[in-house]
Amino acid sequence: MTGLLRKVRFLEQHELGRRYDVVIVGGGVNGLSLAYHLAEVHGVRDVAVLERSYLGSGASGRNTQVLRANYNTPETVPLYEASLRMYRTLSQELDFNILFTDQGELDLCHTPDSLRVEREKSLLNRALGVRTDILTPEEALKVCPLVDLTGGGELPVVGASYHPPGAFARHDAVVWGYAAAAQRRGVAVHEGVTVTGIDVRDGRCVGVRTDAGPVTAAILLLDGLASDQRRRYPSRHAASRSGDRLQSPRSPHMDQTTIVALIGLATVGLLATLLIMRRQRKSGEAESESRYSVSTEGEKRCPKCGMGNMWTDSTCISCGTPLRG
Ligand SMILES: Cc1cc2nc3c(=O)[nH]c(=O)nc-3n(C[C@H](O)[C@H](O)[C@H](O)COP(=O)(O)OP(=O)(O)OC[C@H]3O[C@@H](n4cnc5c(N)ncnc54)[C@H](O)[C@@H]3O)c2cc1C
Repeated sequence: MTGLLRKVRFLEQHELGRRYDVVIVGGGVNGLSLAYHLAEVHGVRDVAVLERSYLGSGASGRNTQVLRANYNTPETVPLYEASLRMYRTLSQELDFNILFTDQGELDLCHTPDSLRVEREKSLLNRALGVRTDILTPEEALKVCPLVDLTGGGELPVVGASYHPPGAFARHDAVVWGYAAAAQRRGVAVHEGVTVTGIDVRDGRCVGVRTDAGPVTAAILLLDGLASDQRRRYPSRHAASRSGDRLQSPRSPHMDQTTIVALIGLATVGLLATLLIMRRQRKSGEAESESRYSVSTEGEKRCPKCGMGNMWTDSTCISCGTPLRG
């Protein structure tokens, strides 16, 4: 066993510089991955990541760690498929064990409605080349023998969605891996530095104010902070656009123009919804022309419960009734 008594410093400590080409606010997975990719792929190394607490102290260090591509919109499926592919080799790329395991993801359905939703998702996933299978309760048990098909006697499992590429990665290891790899490429990673304001000159961001002094930056990137600030500035734009100090939010009261605009938007939205509902009623359940629309063509409807089954199913996924053809 080598290295047992060796003290390894995870992050090198540096003085906070007064100027960087790029300043990234927030040391979550997005901020650190951005920093790493700027340095590794684009050769931009004069980068600082400023994190107010410890790395991964936001959502990145407190999530369910699931990596999957079985999302339910045509835009997200290819995005997460590409992301999942990157995770497979991320340990080697970062030279840091992110504890990646790909045991697949099994989602249990306890109601016919949830099974229907999973079925639609499965069809969309497959249309986009991502494998998601709909399983009977018995097939789900084969995938994971620990499943209690009775749902504790209260919520019997009526089916399941199985996504074989689904995986896990240790969330804080991903954060540390990116931080260490970015730092090896010259990125300055600073914990315990809070950005308190953004300096804007002639409509351009020229730097940030921090509790450790001002830092000038040619480019400023906000990590999870963007959504954080939108929550704090409900009626206006994020401080990065207004140039305000972060700790002095504008009045939470809306001005008259905003109220009129919101009422106008709500009215347009309502009218559009009514129009769409009328059209849908007229065209019945006609299928959309979109290449992503979920087709029911080839489905076998169960004569007993009415559930739409895949044409390959020999028994109904919902009630087990034998299906013909
Ligand atoms: C309960 C839960 C479960 C989730 N499960 C999954 C999952 O299974 N799979 C999945 O892929 N995603 C999951 N997510 C989503 C995922 O965690 C987030 O999308 C991701 O962590 C966002 O990363 P981020 O870097 O954008 O934000 P964050 O990790 O929140 O990073 C923002 C950082 O900015 C710092 N910061 C804020 N203000 C300042 C300031 N003024 N100065 C300096 N620093 C500042 C914060 O301290 C924080 O560290 C889950 C999220 C939650 C909450």
